[in-house]
Amino acid sequence: MQNVTVIDHPVIQTKLTELRDYTADHRKFRTLLDEIAMLMTYEVTRDWPRQPRIVQTPMEKMTGCGLSRQVTLVPILRAGLGMADGVMKILPDARMGHLGVRRDETTLEPIAYYQKLPPDISGTEVLLIDPMLATGGSAIAAVTYLKSAGVENMKFVCLVAAPEGIAAFHRQHPEVPIYCAAIDRQLNDKGYILPGLGDAGDRLFGT
Ligand code: URA
Repeated sequence: MQNVTVIDHPVIQTKLTELRDYTADHRKFRTLLDEIAMLMTYEVTRDWPRQPRIVQTPMEKMTGCGLSRQVTLVPILRAGLGMADGVMKILPDARMGHLGVRRDETTLEPIAYYQKLPPDISGTEVLLIDPMLATGGSAIAAVTYLKSAGVENMKFVCLVAAPEGIAAFHRQHPEVPIYCAAIDRQLNDKGYILPGLGDAGDRLFGT
């Protein structure tokens, strides 16, 4: 699949398997999601541009580097919040916007109910995060909103993606790269991913 990177790392895959296990309670689920998000960030940011930065070591001056652009993290509420702290551990200077997009349980259509972004988000490196790419509706709506806010550099980071969601997402936004830890088999008729991990928000927050 074009513009999709599956981060097939043994440590991430081991943690993802533990996370899928239905016996994992919300405490364990939260910890694992946080750890996986942190590990994925390392790979997701690999191709970010950097610029030279002069630093004075205790011995002498040298030219190191810094990221060329500021970073904005945008979790899709509410399950995306479960990945935010993990990403922030790797990118502690990132600012955070919030997008509230939820699925109508009957129509499965996305409904935007909350948006709050940093005012100068357009020139930044944006990571849009949500653990599940199912029908793609929420992610598509979120990217459309971020583009309308002027964002040019963004990646979508999820844990588990459905082939249907990837196809729908890339029909609308083919240039936005998707990073995930797994591409699962399919969606069921209620829009849940199979085998998946259930409702990520409910499992994360114990609801
Ligand atoms: N959202 C979830 O939390 N899980 C799914 O399987 C699909 C959408």
